[in-house]
Amino acid sequence: MPIYQYDCPKCEKRVDVFFRSISKVTEPVCPECGGKKLKRVMSKVMRARSDADRIDDIDINQELGRLGGSMGVGDFARWSKDLGKRYDGALGSDFGSLSAQADAGQDPVERVDAGHALRYRLEQAKMKATEKKRPKASDLPPADPYM
Ligand SMILES: [Zn+2]
Repeated sequence: MPIYQYDCPKCEKRVDVFFRSISKVTEPVCPECGGKKLKRVMSKVMRARSDADRIDDIDINQELGRLGGSMGVGDFARWSKDLGKRYDGALGSDFGSLSAQADAGQDPVERVDAGHALRYRLEQAKMKATEKKRPKASDLPPADPYM
């Protein structure tokens, strides 16, 4: 059961709203006053975690299975275009531009080992997402001199 935190401008409380299912998440109602103009409270830490989790959810083997052995430039263009549509926005990867290169008749070096290219990009994206999770030194309270 999903739980999200909201600020209610009507009663000025921060409330936890429970949803029966993900599909109901679009219509939050304040449990305190019944107000409907709730503002979702976004926790940066939680967001970073979910980015990393989403990358973990990507099934590399399934994506590689779609390769079916070595690819010609045309196959690679189609494969990377498909990955680009699904992942470039979320991961900041460059499959869209690889696909464009292949379409333009160039032969991107990534084609030779597309599996490695995919794995490498997922690693990079995951490192970035995990880094966001770590608090910066400036966010931490000053060190306790008595500890
Ligand atoms: Zn309220």
